[in-house]
Amino acid sequence: MPSDKSAVLTSSPAEKALADHQILDHVYGHLPPEPRRTPMRELISTVLSHRTTHADEELAYDRMLEAFGDWAGVEAAPTADLAHAIRTTRWPDTQAPRIQEILRRIRAETGGPFDLDFLADWPTERGMAWLTDMPGIGLKTASLLLLFNYHKPVLPVDTHVHRVAQRVGFLGAKVSVEKAHSVLLALLPADAETLFNFHKHNYWHGQQICFFLKPNCARCPLKGFCTYYQEHFGPATAEALAATPDKWDPAAWGKLPH
Ligand code: SF4
Repeated sequence: MPSDKSAVLTSSPAEKALADHQILDHVYGHLPPEPRRTPMRELISTVLSHRTTHADEELAYDRMLEAFGDWAGVEAAPTADLAHAIRTTRWPDTQAPRIQEILRRIRAETGGPFDLDFLADWPTERGMAWLTDMPGIGLKTASLLLLFNYHKPVLPVDTHVHRVAQRVGFLGAKVSVEKAHSVLLALLPADAETLFNFHKHNYWHGQQICFFLKPNCARCPLKGFCTYYQEHFGPATAEALAATPDKWDPAAWGKLPH
């Protein structure tokens, strides 16, 4: 952890991004890269999750496989029947043909099995291009799958990562979430373990401390070099820095989400 957190206040975006990573790595704890779920589930669940609660997405996923047995059954099902099975999602009539098209492309690539492990052997750029060409699959989903499941050096950027990076000041205020994928990636070491931890920690930070409406700056260990903090409260004082907890306390503040 940098000994003088305020020393990077005027540093370059790359230095700030690295300081953010080092400090949050210490606060939340370093993690080994690991998948959230199997590659097929990651991909298909993402299509189901658009504007849908997690519970309804899971219900749709389970009902789909109960109704048609396996991926071959889902692909071959009448599209209207698939839409009915996933009706707890927001746009079943749009998602059903998308899922079937994704399954068709996977089968065409593997020659049969519904398995994405060929992505492990492909260069990152080829895998990214193949995934983002699928209907309903954007940069964030493709990056999550390639980083979490295949340890490729890419960075998923969601709304939390985007907000923290902009407030701390290593991402421009006008850079979109889509564009931030390449901008932030260029600031960080091209190493899957670092990128995995950067993503997870900044995601948690946006969810737990740097809230959209009222960021909890008093508890934030990034305040010493955060542009938003400086603009709203002035430079962080030695007292404020000393009073900032530098480890997440699950007993006091709750367990971090997966
Ligand atoms: S100091 Fe405040 S605005 Fe800056 S990152 Fe921390 S919580 Fe967010």
